[in-house]
Amino acid sequence: MTGSMQNWPLLVWKLIDHAAATAPRQEIVTQSVEGNLHRTNWSEVRMRAKKVAQALDRFGIQRGDRVGTLAWNTYRHVECWYGISGAGAVAHTINPRLFEDQIVYIINHAQDRILFFDLTFMDLVTRIAPRLTGVERFIVMTDRAHMITAPAEFECYEDLLAEQDDTFPWVELEETEPAGLCYTSGTTGNPKGVLYSHRSNVLHSFAATQAAVFGLSARSVVMPIVPMFHANAWAIPYAAALAGAKLVLGGPHHDAVTLQRLIVEEQVSITAAVPTVWLAMLQHLTETRTDLGALQRVIIGGAAAPQSMIKAFEDDFGVEVMHAWGLTELSPLGATATLSAEAAKLPRQQQLDVKSRQGRPLFGIEMKVVDENGRELPRDGHSAGILKVRGPWVVAQYFGGGEGTILDEGGWFDTGDIATLDSESCMQITDRSKDVIKSGGEWISSVELENAAVACPGIAEAAVIGIPHPRWGERPLLVLVRKPDSTVAAAEVREHLAGQIAKWWMPDDIAFVSDIPHTATGKILKTELRKQFSDYCSVAR
Ligand code: AMP
Repeated sequence: MTGSMQNWPLLVWKLIDHAAATAPRQEIVTQSVEGNLHRTNWSEVRMRAKKVAQALDRFGIQRGDRVGTLAWNTYRHVECWYGISGAGAVAHTINPRLFEDQIVYIINHAQDRILFFDLTFMDLVTRIAPRLTGVERFIVMTDRAHMITAPAEFECYEDLLAEQDDTFPWVELEETEPAGLCYTSGTTGNPKGVLYSHRSNVLHSFAATQAAVFGLSARSVVMPIVPMFHANAWAIPYAAALAGAKLVLGGPHHDAVTLQRLIVEEQVSITAAVPTVWLAMLQHLTETRTDLGALQRVIIGGAAAPQSMIKAFEDDFGVEVMHAWGLTELSPLGATATLSAEAAKLPRQQQLDVKSRQGRPLFGIEMKVVDENGRELPRDGHSAGILKVRGPWVVAQYFGGGEGTILDEGGWFDTGDIATLDSESCMQITDRSKDVIKSGGEWISSVELENAAVACPGIAEAAVIGIPHPRWGERPLLVLVRKPDSTVAAAEVREHLAGQIAKWWMPDDIAFVSDIPHTATGKILKTELRKQFSDYCSVAR
């Protein structure tokens, strides 16, 4: 027997249909690549997305074909997203911050047939085009006036749209067919592709919209600073359509001045980015003695949010922080650090401690931590182990990875994170499994050390890596970047750390550097840092 309700497939184009029907005049504002502030709305963006779909259909794009985008957060990128998956194809968002060889690898591995790209990447695409074996058409996402420097074989996006009408019917698909493709940032080995389905994207958008995450409604103004090529901008362009929210997009601009201006002038109520972006923003706000206008909530994820950052947003600027955890393989949202009913009664400092954790899983995500033999560890808030998850928007296998599953026999996916869970399933990451520091057989949490160090006055950024040690196996090396004008010394940092961390966690050495290397998605690039310090000799003690 089956239930007697309708079988309405969960397809991503239904999100933009809904936005155009219920919030047609709701704005989508872009600080464009060409430089101007561009305004459109959900109704127009849907019509133009249909033109993209029609063009793809005329080019002979078939269901399941991959179409690449190398683009910033702009209205044209949103049109391509919906247009590509509405044509039955797969929107493959490519991270332009990766190395050139990785970009070539990804486009060829995905077998992209068409590449849409922003003006910013004209030189890059001109250079790599001969190596892109399967790409048949190159489309520059701009108008004719900005095509002056384009090679003759590149086509103009606005010309292409002008040749279409907006009557193209979205392709009716099975909800399990693919809608999007995103490669992991690949700090080790080749990047791996995660092929999202229409169903997983729609279910994930419902989850992202709820109060425990973005808390979106038709009165929200949401600005994803996290790029659309980084795990779907954490689903914001989908969730904003679902809620009928106003969308503000920064285009190629990631500097604190432009972002703050957009937040204030467009009355942004919710925004989301990785901690490095917020570090620069808080510095800018302090220096200019300005604020964040009508901003109510900031989502910090992609790397651990230091407690000092959470405190600064909430206490100095009156903006609520939602600490979020996820990964490309989870579409990407997995958990948020909301206060439970019990936690909401705690004194302020303890609430901050809860908010600094990675939080409780969203409905749809199951979690457990296991030891090296796969045995589940107690949910006691102390036992750290390998974090495994499962759920309807969790990857089952990598794209092009053959038939083999990457899940264990219970259907669990290994996140690569080391974490603890407490009795309310509140999760705390202690490390990436490849970053753990094992000293005298015990784990030292680099994340906790980094958080403690970055709270020291005068410190802008901190990274901890393990350095080989003859007696202990490994000892932590603390690498620090000072704030401008700061002269803070190692002894002061040690003094600050004492009492906050276990004695044996105290880094043997502290190195000051002018900057710390980051990955293409804004995380600390520990592989590079380890290379930089490969000859470093720990002070034996
Ligand atoms: P990516 O797939 O590039 O988004 O990277 C996912 C990884 O980023 C996770 O497996 C975590 O190691 C890390 N990460 C994401 N969010 C957080 C967070 N809130 N705190 C600590 N680490 C995080």
